[in-house]
Amino acid sequence: MSKVQSSTLGYPRIGEKREWKKALEAYWGDKVSQEELEVELKQIRLTNLKKQQEAGLSLIPVGDFSLYDHVLDTAVSFGLVPERFAYDGGPVPLDTYFAIARGTNEAVASEMTKWYNTNYHYIVPELDSRKPELVENRVLALYKEAREELGIEAKPVLLGPVSFVKLSKNYGNKTLAEHVQQLLPLYAQVLKELEEAGASWVQIDEPFLNGDVAKSDIELLQEAYAFLGQEAPVLNILLQTYFEAVDHYEQVVDLPVQGIGLDFVHGGEATLRQLQEKGFPDGKVLAAGIIDGRNIWRADLKGVQALTSAIGKIVPNDRLILQPSCSLLHVPVTVKTEQKLPDVLAAGVAFADEKLAEIVTLTKVLNRDADERTLEESRRAVEALNASESRNNPTVQRELAETEGENTSRTVAAKERYRRQQEALGLPLLPTTTIGSFPQTKEVRKQRLDWRRGNLSNENYDAFIRKEIDKWIDIQEDIGLDVLVHGEFERTDMVEFFGEKLDGFQFTTFGWVQSYGSRCVKPPIIFGDVSFAETMTVKETHYAQSKTKKPVKGMLTGPVTIYNWSFPRVDISESNVVNQIALALRKEVQALEEAGISVIQVDEPALREGLPLKREKWEQYLEQSVTGFKLSVNKVHTETQIHTHMCYSDFEDIIAAIDALDADVISIEMSRSHGELISSFEDFTYNKGIGLGVYDIHSPRVPAKEEISRNIDRALSVLDKELFWINPDCGLKTRQEPETVAALKVMVDAAEDARKRQLSEVK
Ligand code: GLN
Ligand code: ZN
Repeated sequence: MSKVQSSTLGYPRIGEKREWKKALEAYWGDKVSQEELEVELKQIRLTNLKKQQEAGLSLIPVGDFSLYDHVLDTAVSFGLVPERFAYDGGPVPLDTYFAIARGTNEAVASEMTKWYNTNYHYIVPELDSRKPELVENRVLALYKEAREELGIEAKPVLLGPVSFVKLSKNYGNKTLAEHVQQLLPLYAQVLKELEEAGASWVQIDEPFLNGDVAKSDIELLQEAYAFLGQEAPVLNILLQTYFEAVDHYEQVVDLPVQGIGLDFVHGGEATLRQLQEKGFPDGKVLAAGIIDGRNIWRADLKGVQALTSAIGKIVPNDRLILQPSCSLLHVPVTVKTEQKLPDVLAAGVAFADEKLAEIVTLTKVLNRDADERTLEESRRAVEALNASESRNNPTVQRELAETEGENTSRTVAAKERYRRQQEALGLPLLPTTTIGSFPQTKEVRKQRLDWRRGNLSNENYDAFIRKEIDKWIDIQEDIGLDVLVHGEFERTDMVEFFGEKLDGFQFTTFGWVQSYGSRCVKPPIIFGDVSFAETMTVKETHYAQSKTKKPVKGMLTGPVTIYNWSFPRVDISESNVVNQIALALRKEVQALEEAGISVIQVDEPALREGLPLKREKWEQYLEQSVTGFKLSVNKVHTETQIHTHMCYSDFEDIIAAIDALDADVISIEMSRSHGELISSFEDFTYNKGIGLGVYDIHSPRVPAKEEISRNIDRALSVLDKELFWINPDCGLKTRQEPETVAALKVMVDAAEDARKRQLSEVK
């Protein structure tokens, strides 16, 4: 290597038009055979490789492609199939692979959870499955395929042993180190075979290094990589990190491997500072992540060139690889297919293909194979976008400036507010409510689609929605719920619905990103200053309220969730964007209030998942989130009751921030945490309204009354009965109507019993 090389850590699997998703779903739906599926997937895989080859990348990854998830791929290559899926060794059959991910009638799927701080979800390996053995050298086959089919000398990608074990569960009586040790010979075998086949570089990801890392973990890495290096002495190992600057920088770069991949984008300037202050070992290759692999914005390559020059002062060209900060799995495939974006935006975004072009351009400039002036165009595009009208809305900026120094709190303290609200609303002890959505039946989805496609008039669509609302108001009254909802039938998705109505958002046509398995999401782009354009929820909420004397709860998605589930602009601070959204929502909150709605719920299910990987960054994030939330609701009357909802139960470590939101009532999930949550409240006195979900909505089963009663009693053993609410764990949109009605009846019945018990205790 005499010149700077270019590479990427991974490429999107899904294809330009989600061909991958369609192929998988056709197979699951029995529309194509396994053979046909394999042909189609190979086609997609080779197309992806070819695009990278044509882009001019010098090191192209293989093994990043997956039929579902790369963590699951790693597990099955070691034969780690949980016992409940019949399997007795050898390469794991395709249907078993999918069964682990998706479950079958006989066996539940493995758990799925978030991949670090992204919206990608992986299948959690179960280490107690069976003794690991190498049943398939998956990357070897892919390495050979790339060479045979396209003449590519690819870079196989593996998930590293320490991260793999850390991402797994069911350790049994073995420690982390023991599990890693057990896997090392299998990794060694994979590497040896790659070496024999002629591979030059292999990328081994150890993303756990992005968090707070213990010294003992570093020692484990040292041992592990020393062993792997001995076993495959000729192969070059690139130990790859991403999503943050690494802790223990010196020890990490000194690990016994030939190359280290560092993220120079996330973690601010920390990585560059570490490099400048602590240097980089002689003779080692640095793979520098210099283009953001997580966002969709075009880079100002002049600016990035300043970064690469700074890096180049420490690491010579012949030991430098330029690449995105992480796998491009987290961005859509190409801007090329987007026809509807405004010009200034279209010129300012970069998806996977465009990011690869950026990497290659920078590499060429560094190698003096291209003129430096080629970088200027990107700067002009970024500047034009920043100067565009949509990013310079004087009203938004004035309103935002006015909030600085504004007291974001409500005027009356929580306890007094709550007393006045309960009285004004005329609510009983232990009031019952739901989280917002009711079943989105086939019919609901069909009508909405017809309307979106222009095949159903506005009047007819509105009439249909009104009919659904009528039906569900009646149902809720029959069941005897205390605070009703309109049911959210008009909404596709919690963020898209609001993004489409607010100014400052844009939607792509094919901007899909894999979320889990074949499921892809198309996050909205927060492109300009965000502002309120028209009321978003008043029509339906007001209509529902006109049909009942009971209070109807308005439903909004909160600023933090809207931010976290979008691709936000990065030219202004995160907190500015969150606050802009908050101010726009505040207008909606006030419009609801003016329309006579006295209970308003602002959902924040994504608040917890946005937590930074490193603890030291939590405080700032939580503070900015709390401010945003409070800004969105702080102008309401004392008697207006603000609710919030979050879909998780493990919040022990952020309970102070949740309290600081100062919502009058919060509803959270509990039934699946089996009371673990309750202990949080033994140590922390929560003195505002709170509903701990009393039944799990994730399965169609109708809970028994005793079960709900037990959950209520357990909660009341630590929480004040005057503050307790009774509700399901989450929204009911994925459920069917009969089971929903039945479950809510049981819930209301259990609430009545609990109320009687409480009242008789007082006497
Ligand atoms: N109000 C939303 C609903 O009921 C909340 C969804 C969520 O928490 N993710 O569907
Ligand atoms: Zn929820």
